[in-house]
Amino acid sequence: MLRISQRHLKILEACPRQFEHTYFDRLTLPINPVQQVKTQLGSDFHLLMHQRELGLPIKPILARSPQLNTWVQAMLQTAPALFESDPQSWRESEHVRTLELGDYLFTAIYDLVILHPDRADIIDWKTYPLPKYKKDLDLEWQTRLYLYILAETSDYVPKQIAFTYWFIQSTPQPKSVKISYTLKQHRQTKTDLLELLAKLTDWLDAYQHLREPFPQVAASKGLCDRCNFAARCNRKDLDLASTDTFTSHDLDRIPMIPI
Ligand code: SF4
Repeated sequence: MLRISQRHLKILEACPRQFEHTYFDRLTLPINPVQQVKTQLGSDFHLLMHQRELGLPIKPILARSPQLNTWVQAMLQTAPALFESDPQSWRESEHVRTLELGDYLFTAIYDLVILHPDRADIIDWKTYPLPKYKKDLDLEWQTRLYLYILAETSDYVPKQIAFTYWFIQSTPQPKSVKISYTLKQHRQTKTDLLELLAKLTDWLDAYQHLREPFPQVAASKGLCDRCNFAARCNRKDLDLASTDTFTSHDLDRIPMIPI
């Protein structure tokens, strides 16, 4: 049984070949240092919020990181009600749910889930500013899959479930976008999931038995220009003439590093 996450769905829908390179060929590229710092800060923020939900001390960590402290304080001040415990509700951070669909096992890890007697709230932390278009968020596989899995694995009907994104870095304070759910959306998500999984099954079959690569996205979609696999996919002109040639003389120009 193949485990599928929202990230898998996102890549698979955008370009099946990228999905193959990333998850089957296991090709990875080094992340640039600036991106690495941002990613680490984002992970640390999620860890802190989880630690806070568990009732573990976070002050020593906040004292060491002004950036994390700013984000946490901004969230606590902007949405204090979100952090108040309610005896009528149940809440858990890093909440994991799985759902089987055909030969696939879907996994969702919710940043925070709050289950009230009459409704369920999914909370997701984003450590970047609010994107321009809310419409894009409705179409994101994370939104769709997380709502779908909660509806399928609980007694809540779709209209009782909502997904709220919190954009921590928005100014002057964190901003939220709440996405409600309907039965119509739930059915549409199921249709789209089954359609995508049927394609994945065919592509996987051809890949494993006939050694056929997964299909590439149409070049006209413009995704290849920004893709790290562009050269491997022959979707990028390599300008070799302008590339510096590295010779043994260049070794002399590299400064010695004292050990
Ligand atoms: S370069 Fe284009 S075709 Fe190749 S993996 Fe990237 S997006 Fe897909």
